[in-house]
Amino acid sequence: MPLEVKPRFVVLYGSQKGQAQSIAEGIAEEAEEHGLVADLCCLNQNDKYNLEKERAPVVFVVSTTGDGEPPDNALQFVKRIKKRTLSPDHYKHLLYALLALGDTNYANFCNCGKTIERRLRELGAKQFYPTGYADDGVGLELVIDPWLKGLWNSIKDTLSKMASDRTVQLKEDSAKEIPESSLPDVQLNLLSIADKQICEPDSKYSSSLAISDVRPASASTVSSSAPKTQACSEGVPQVSLAASLTSSLPPLSESSLNVPSLPPPYLDVALQEADAVEQAVERLSKETCNEVPISKAVQLSKGDSVKTALLLELDISAFPSMTYHPGDSFDVFCPNVAEEVDHLLHRLGLQDQKNHRVQISLKHNTKKRGAQVPPHIPENVSLLFLLTWCLEIRSVPKKAFLRALVEHTSDSAQKRRLQELCSKQGAADYNLYVRDPSLSVSELLTAFPSCSPSLSLLIELLPKLQPRPYSAASSHLRHPEKLRFVFNVVEFPACSGRPTGRRGLCTGWLFDLVNPGLVFPEKAELALPKIHVSLRPSCSFRPPSDPSLPFIMIGPGTGVAPFIGFLQQREEEKKENPEAKFGETWLFFGCRYRNKDYLFREELENFVSSGTLNHLKVCFSREDRKDEEEPPSAAQPRYVQHNLLLCCRQVTDILLRQDGYIYVCGDAKNMAKDVNETLVEMIKTELQVDQLEAMKTLAGLREQKRYLQDIWA
Ligand code: FAD
Repeated sequence: MPLEVKPRFVVLYGSQKGQAQSIAEGIAEEAEEHGLVADLCCLNQNDKYNLEKERAPVVFVVSTTGDGEPPDNALQFVKRIKKRTLSPDHYKHLLYALLALGDTNYANFCNCGKTIERRLRELGAKQFYPTGYADDGVGLELVIDPWLKGLWNSIKDTLSKMASDRTVQLKEDSAKEIPESSLPDVQLNLLSIADKQICEPDSKYSSSLAISDVRPASASTVSSSAPKTQACSEGVPQVSLAASLTSSLPPLSESSLNVPSLPPPYLDVALQEADAVEQAVERLSKETCNEVPISKAVQLSKGDSVKTALLLELDISAFPSMTYHPGDSFDVFCPNVAEEVDHLLHRLGLQDQKNHRVQISLKHNTKKRGAQVPPHIPENVSLLFLLTWCLEIRSVPKKAFLRALVEHTSDSAQKRRLQELCSKQGAADYNLYVRDPSLSVSELLTAFPSCSPSLSLLIELLPKLQPRPYSAASSHLRHPEKLRFVFNVVEFPACSGRPTGRRGLCTGWLFDLVNPGLVFPEKAELALPKIHVSLRPSCSFRPPSDPSLPFIMIGPGTGVAPFIGFLQQREEEKKENPEAKFGETWLFFGCRYRNKDYLFREELENFVSSGTLNHLKVCFSREDRKDEEEPPSAAQPRYVQHNLLLCCRQVTDILLRQDGYIYVCGDAKNMAKDVNETLVEMIKTELQVDQLEAMKTLAGLREQKRYLQDIWA
């Protein structure tokens, strides 16, 4: 039999939370269906690929993290290609396509992807397919789905052209010319991508396989005007007039479905009785992770404030490695909720084996490209430890996950609903019932009681349980042995599939840990517990190194946290060196109500009294002014950007004429964007320039690291 040589291409990914990695893996897996073979590597595995010699097309899938930084596993690659010593024809042989993931709620949207692309071009590489910029702010799939759809023809076209250039005949099915008319309908501007082929079969979805043509379980009994048959575990139909997580309405309930192809299994998991297993949380972190005592817990929000804000103080006196600077943040390692872990163990039928050691190995014959044992699972851990500390069991299930769960669901109505939710036709329902309410895998399993996934499937598809970062809200100079931080307890409202609301994983856990002390502060004997933390030093979010330069801080809500650290530090420096020249300081703070959630009010007012803070601008977005201290005024600023506008002249003067700095920090999704737009407007007015020029000026400040952001969703 002649040996079939499939045309090959390369897929490289840089991924912080696994999203880009799973897309890259999906591309590599789908390659076979297109008669291609893909070499899949992480960008940091530079011993496994060689771009300097690569002649095959290369597909990059990269996310962006933090303030536009590359993901950890792409850092070295970005550093390498940024070297100015590389010649402009370094990559002139290279053909590439790039999918960048980002979030427009953050500054520097898709910055890592853009940086890689810019350098590839500067080094002579040629693009064979337009770059996709996917925006998590509006839904990554809006760009990813059409981008992936068009990718295949482009790869084949490129390979085919390369082959004919080399006058090598590839096999007929892999070398056929792609007509111009079938070139991908992907535009560079992410907002203008139109998925015109919404009703056409999607190359991402296995359109010709039996599973792709899934008919409704009860299609013959459902008419478009009749109430829908609701999914129910016992198989007894219940009548529902409204769609929900577990039930759909026509036309979806009657539609044929295109579902994604089944992710190939790749892990063998065994449970072994063991006398001693590792339970050390420290092993979860590559950095030094310390178990530190909480020395203080204070509720900052008052009365019936919508959000509960807490300040925690950690005693770091025994941990010299925890020495921090203003602007640094640190990771808190939190466990999954014990009841949810217990529920999962029951569901897996493994309650009796929770203390067994988990042994994970790769399936010998797996079809998954680049398969590896998840690196976030340490060796020699018990099943209980694995489910408690290693896997994000509250992650929002991706469509591939739902597709895999179909195979483990016995009830036909539930099976059909899961198929709908992962199908192309059910995309709107997926967004409405799964993605938007952040439905967790645990909640999904509760809603679909006949679904019993295997342990190996969960380990394959659940992402790493990530530690949660928090900004230091104190200065090491003021509190040498202490580290403070502030957070709002995240609340998820009830929704279809979540009968009662729940709290965020880490903030809910921290709240429960310290709650007895908050309720009974007079009971000193209630010792506060310890938590595991590791430091995440910031490279750039720091007060100006030259203290004589002025700076502006914008931090509504808990976004004020790092600025408390900045100001404490400044106050100490002033005490140590009263003769030195210190630049002006400004703080723009905002919250809902003066008397409920004005965090650090007293401390901020003291900073003003001592001259550490020269300008404090505060606004209240929900205040009923009749009851408040200030007289009502139509022009009353509601948000931080309104106050910024009122100080347009001084702020722009600091930034444009005095070499000053501006810092933005916060958890408000739109705040950073609104502030950015306001700054553009202010620069336009002040310099009398057009929009583009103003944006360039702001970009210049960013490049000089004088406009810095620390934003979280
Ligand atoms: P999770 O269980 O992880 O849930 C939070 C997720 O759910 C978020 O993705 C959010 O978008 C989403 N979500 C939130 N509310 C809802 C809702 N009602 N419905 C649906 N979805 C929702 N946070 C602070 O409070 N203070 C800080 O100083 C701070 N500093 C940070 C510094 C950095 C560098 C970063 C990256 C983040 C910082 N954060 C800070 C955010 C913090 O790390 C956590 O993300 C936050 O506390 C929530 O964690 P959690 O585990 O309780 O929530």
